[in-house]
Parts: sequence; C-alpha cells; structure tokens
Amino acid sequence: MFRGILITKDDAGYKAELQTIDEAVLPAGDVTVQVEWSTLNYKDALAITGKSPVVRRFPMVPGIDFAGTVLESTNAAWQAGDKVILNGWGVGETHCGGLAEIARVKGEWLLALPNSFTTRQAMAIGTAGYTAMLCVLALEKHGIEPPDGEILVTGANGGVGSVAVALLAKLGYTVVASTGRSAEADYLKALGASQVIDRSELSAPGKPIGKERWAGVIDTVGSHTLANACATTQYRGAVAACGLAGGMDFPATVAPFILRGVTLYGIDSVMAPLKVRQEAWQRLSRDLDITRLEAITREIGLSQAIAVATELLDGKVRGRVVVDVKR
Ligand code: NAP
Repeated sequence: MFRGILITKDDAGYKAELQTIDEAVLPAGDVTVQVEWSTLNYKDALAITGKSPVVRRFPMVPGIDFAGTVLESTNAAWQAGDKVILNGWGVGETHCGGLAEIARVKGEWLLALPNSFTTRQAMAIGTAGYTAMLCVLALEKHGIEPPDGEILVTGANGGVGSVAVALLAKLGYTVVASTGRSAEADYLKALGASQVIDRSELSAPGKPIGKERWAGVIDTVGSHTLANACATTQYRGAVAACGLAGGMDFPATVAPFILRGVTLYGIDSVMAPLKVRQEAWQRLSRDLDITRLEAITREIGLSQAIAVATELLDGKVRGRVVVDVKR
C-alpha cells in the first residue's frame, strides 16, 4: 500500500482524492520507482479537476512527471538505487503517474537524473521546464541568434513561460514577456525579461499581418495570441507553439507564412524521442540558472495538490509547483 492521489469516475461522478492505494492498481511495467518529488503542470491540473478529458483510464494516479529512485527492475538498463526522472509518455493520462509514493512504468520511458540536478530540482523543472527548453532549441535550430531581435514569451508567469524567460535571458536574448499579471512585472524582470507587456495587446482578434517585431516567439497561450504573434513576427522568423492556456483555436491566416516566410514549429513533449529529451535535459543542465529556478519554485505536499490544481487553472500560480510526495 502507498499514499497517492487517485482519480475515479463512476455513477457518483469524477473525483480526485488523496488515499492509500493498493499496488494492484498499478499497471504492468518493468521498473518500480520510489517517487520522491513530482510536480503540478497545467495538464495535471486539468486531470485533477476533470476540466478536460486528460485522463483516459480509471482509476488513475495523475502526475505526468516524477523523479525518484528505482526500487525494482527487470529492465537491463536500470537497477535498484538508480536515480531517474520521467516526463510524459501518457503517464498520468493512460498509465498511473507521479502524484504518489510509488510508480511502475516501462524502463524505456525513464531518463537518468542529470548529475547537476537533485530530484527536487528536476521536478521544479518538470515537463513545463523541459518543454520550455524544447521551444528554445526550436528557435536556436532555426538559426535565431541574440542580435536578431526580441523574443516574445506569452503566458510568461506560468511554468513554461517562467522557465523560457530565464533560459532565453541566460542565453543572451532580449526577452519580452507577455502576461495578464502586470503586478508580477518585477518577478519577470528578475528572471531576465527586458520588457513586460500586457497580454491584452495580443489576445484580441488582430490583423492578418502587422508590423514586424519578433525575431522569435515562444507561445503557451494559443488562440488569438498565437495568431497575432505569427502576424507580427519578422521576415523568416519563427514561432514555437506549445500551449493552449488561452484556447485551442488558431484564428489566423496564411499571410505571415507565405508573405514573410515565418515558420511555425509545433512542440510536443509527451512523445518526444529519447534523443530529443536527452538533448533538452543536457541543455537545461548547462543553461538553467539554479538560483532563478529556485526563485520560480513553490513547494507543496501531496495533501495540497488537489487545492493547488484549482488555483493553477484560475491563473493564480506563478512559476512552478514542486510536490513533496512524502507529505
Ligand atoms: P501554467 O503554469 O498554468 O501557465 C499558463 C499561463 O498562461 C498562466 O500563468 C497565464 O500566464 C497564461 N494564461 C492562462 N490563462 C490564459 C488566458 N485565458 N489567456 C491568456 N493567457 C492565459 O501552465 P504551464 O504548465 O506553463 O503550461 C502552459 C501551456 O503549455 C498549457 O496550455 C499546457 O497545456 C501547455 N504545455 C504543452 C506542452 C507540450 O508538450 N506541448 C508541455 C507543457 C505544457 P500570465 O499570468 O503570465 O498571463
């Protein structure tokens, strides 16, 4: 038996509760992990509250990320005592996840904990931070360099946004942070943003094409924000789209793509191949300032995760939430 959050759906409705869970609930897998830290991402909040159909099997332990120590393994790649991390692969959606003391998964989904991080730091980064790095890598591989101009980050106070701002600033880019919380402007500037703009500048329906401004964009919001970001990206610039916090629609025209040669990169962290993940975590080890990571991290216990999930969807959580599964 172990402690964890369990989501059930039956005639009584959709429910997430902190419980003592029987190991029989865990699915098949060749590696069993003692989870030390997990985290709350936007997707975890959707799963816990049931606001979107993230969970596809019941009962389900939510948590798309975890970090911990291997307890048992029949997979040749892992041995008891190894420190590991997991991000995505449908864990917390179709396969029991990290918001519990024990997880059982396929060994091929695990990565060795990078030497430069503790399990807590790896979860302070979590899927949100690793996705921010995937976005930065997309812009870099496109050839965008710091002198090319401003990089726009939308949803800047969120988990992906905060890590993206910190990474880009450390790499020497000029970052413009878009947020609905202007009261947090000092926080965003401390992370490295040069300028903070109100998200209302981007969230209303705009023109198919506008004045060229951004050398690159990391968008976590979608909808009109993404459309307006594309419309104001410089000639041959690039936009990395990873989120839908403002909506799943994309009310745009082809104008920025066919008149300005703008490239729109889709970023998916969940099923990204191992090589891509390894590169992202290696770059996080090198380019993420641990002091800044600490500044964006709030620590909670498992017993608070259900309440904080609602806060997160209400846009009241700043940066990243790390979850101590022991309390
Ligand atoms: P988060 O911490 O909740 O951050 C989301 C941020 O979006 C909020 O802090 C807020 O920023 C902004 N926002 C919220 N509602 C908005 C609205 N109605 N209009 C405009 N902006 C709004 O979530 P996260 O974990 O960073 O994830 C951000 C997005 O990326 C989510 O949609 C998530 O599903 C997606 N994501 C995708 C992947 C992938 O693999 N593609 C991986 C991770 C996350 P401000 O307060 O600064 O305005």
